[in-house]
Amino acid sequence: MARYTGPVCRLCRREGEKLFLKGDRCLSPKCAMEEGRRPEPPGMRHFGRRRQQGDYKNQLREKQKARRFYCVSEKQFANYYKKAAHKKGVTGDNLFQLLESRLDNVVYRLGYGKSRAHARQLVCHGHFSLNGRPVNIPSILLRDGDVIQIKEQKRKKGSFRELLNVSSGECRYSWLEADYANLRGTYKYSPQLAELDHTIQPSLIVEFYSR
Ligand code: SF4
Repeated sequence: MARYTGPVCRLCRREGEKLFLKGDRCLSPKCAMEEGRRPEPPGMRHFGRRRQQGDYKNQLREKQKARRFYCVSEKQFANYYKKAAHKKGVTGDNLFQLLESRLDNVVYRLGYGKSRAHARQLVCHGHFSLNGRPVNIPSILLRDGDVIQIKEQKRKKGSFRELLNVSSGECRYSWLEADYANLRGTYKYSPQLAELDHTIQPSLIVEFYSR
């Protein structure tokens, strides 16, 4: 499946906000979205021009922002939307619950990956087990109560060893439970929109796909 492999800071600049795609750098003064860096949208032709605003543009940008935030392809995102629309309840809420339950997202939120892309790579390389069984598919959707764990034989890896020593604290997301001593985590429940740490407006995404 085609995956974006270009410069990722460019994506944040395009969306006009931090999407946290680059691990530690995102929290440092080197982040392109920090003052004094390059927060303007990419492309010389935008300089000095007033950019057009419109409903379609806003809807498109919100969809792209969500897609890039969760590191999913266009096709995958459209499939998540279809699935969300078929489920009972509010489509926008369903959509974000599906995205949040992706294995790579949970690995990232638990702190086992520096970014979603890094988490995805760790999953693909077979570092995790899900409910005691090996797993290497980052798009697997977790269900309430599912437990992920870093495999015994992978724990000696530098970044995990660091976690074992440093992270004795709790996970800051209420819908996840982390057990850093055993390099384990539980997906307790699907979060509500209000619990999430981004400002993406699901209504605009729904409008985009309802055109
Ligand atoms: Fe985005 Fe992170 Fe790059 Fe900052 S450092 S622009 S948050 S990817």
